[in-house]
Amino acid sequence: MRIDGVAIAATITEHVRDHVERLKTAGIEPKVGILTATDDESTAYYVRSIVRAAQRSGILAEVLALTPESDTATIRGACRRLAEDASVHGVIAQTPFPAGIDATEVIRQIPVRKDVDGATIESAGLIFHGLPAYAPATAQAVMEILRAEQIDLSGKRVTVVGRSLVVGKPLSVLLLGANATVTVCHSRTVDLPAVCREADILVAAIGHARMIGAEYVCEGATVIDVGTNATDEGLVGDVDFDAVAGIAGKITPVPGGVGPVTTACLLRNIASACERAAA
Ligand code: NDP
Repeated sequence: MRIDGVAIAATITEHVRDHVERLKTAGIEPKVGILTATDDESTAYYVRSIVRAAQRSGILAEVLALTPESDTATIRGACRRLAEDASVHGVIAQTPFPAGIDATEVIRQIPVRKDVDGATIESAGLIFHGLPAYAPATAQAVMEILRAEQIDLSGKRVTVVGRSLVVGKPLSVLLLGANATVTVCHSRTVDLPAVCREADILVAAIGHARMIGAEYVCEGATVIDVGTNATDEGLVGDVDFDAVAGIAGKITPVPGGVGPVTTACLLRNIASACERAAA
């Protein structure tokens, strides 16, 4: 069964719109500030899509676009300006940054309460401790999809392929929090297909087009494809959808799976950060 990420995202977005309406009625105007310092077209496309989605939900969006020639001090200063702007409730420092930029130093400027994409070390620590903070929106999106599909995680074997700070690591912590038995794989994992075949739920967050084929999936498993890879044939996931769809019990497509749910989670975080700022 194909999981409909667009429908799941629409449900979340509907709640966000209601939430934003209520905030505006109370005289509060939710706003997100997005910092970029790249001329990478796919990043620009992603940022435009967040801005459009925010505006559709009634959230103001300000993009601070610096040139790729900017140094760490300039980018850090811009991030601090957004962080200190009382009218901005959520700050996103959109990577990639130019080569040589100290990204940690830039992101450090974002206070936890405005860290709507869970980028800071402080947010990561709070999530690790099971305390309130925003997890990276993509990790949240995977959890949201599993919840929407009513997949009980307690005691289930979940394998996450990928250990990045934005997806694999935070997701593994959220899954543990939901009582799953979690295996995290990476480029040094020995016999990856065999490890993946053990999983009731397999999450691919690798960045290699269609790498996960039939030999990685056990009959009836749920497969969540986080990958977004630009190819000559357009955007494709890390999972070979055609090869795996007949084996998996449920599977997310790319596009139309994790991506739209990620954006919806981001909007929800912005509205929530706005509400907390007003409290
Ligand atoms: P990273 O490059 O930061 O991490 C990739 C991970 O995959 C690493 O842990 C790496 O292992 C592992 N890996 C790479 N090759 C292999 C291999 N052959 N076998 C097993 N593991 C491997 O990527 P991200 O986590 O940032 O992104 C992953 C994918 O998700 C990308 O396609 C990205 O575009 C997509 N993405 C999608 C989002 C969405 O909203 N839909 C948001 C964020 C990302 P090692 O650590 O050993 O190097």
